[in-house]
Amino acid sequence: MISIKTERELDLMRKAGRVVAITLQEIETAIKPGITTARLDDIAERTLRKLGAQPAFKGYNGFPATICASINEQVVHGIPGARRLKEGDIVSIDIGSIVEGYFGDAAITVAVGEVAPEVEELIRITRECLDRAIEAARVGCHLGNISHAIQAHAESHGFSVVRQYVGHGIGTSMHEEPPVPNYGKPTRGPILQPGMTLAIEPMVNMGTFEVYTLPDHWTVVTRDGKYSAHFEHTVAITAGGPEILTKG
Ligand code: MG
Repeated sequence: MISIKTERELDLMRKAGRVVAITLQEIETAIKPGITTARLDDIAERTLRKLGAQPAFKGYNGFPATICASINEQVVHGIPGARRLKEGDIVSIDIGSIVEGYFGDAAITVAVGEVAPEVEELIRITRECLDRAIEAARVGCHLGNISHAIQAHAESHGFSVVRQYVGHGIGTSMHEEPPVPNYGKPTRGPILQPGMTLAIEPMVNMGTFEVYTLPDHWTVVTRDGKYSAHFEHTVAITAGGPEILTKG
């Protein structure tokens, strides 16, 4: 069952989304060689709470932090800690917020200082995958249009999309129906309707799409150790077109 949000609910999701956007901007500014991901987590939690939101990830299935910080070959769900970012790294920061019972969820991947040109391209193409997916999120289209937009763009640049983790519906819980895969046929899946809210989150790998989870039970890494990038927005399907709720 895919829930349809009322205008009042969408307003609350706009609030939750705005908090996420502001927090991601704060973190992006702070990312530089030498900073630890624990410090970024601290900035995130303080910013969220100052803005009247609660962290959505902290305590979720026992996750210990406000952000997921996933470095280089780490795809998603990295746990912040004492590791210092260094020049040439890339780091994906994923944040969820709760405002008055409604959730916002977004992620960015940021280059730390100068990175290799092919890594820069990975980040750029992954961001473009998200842009194209959002463009495809229109009333009357199939959910598969979103999935296909991501897969087609990533693969046309020689990258692969992760199968094992997907985007999701979002609203009064972080993960609602439907799953939003980053691969698939445009003619498949439910028809998009006004009031649906989706967290769309392409995860794009330089090498194989295969991933596995580290012994910490959280951090997902690429099977071949090559870099991975991740962008995410929470998006509302509206009669007037897609509305990004996690925009600053
Ligand atoms: Mg998500």
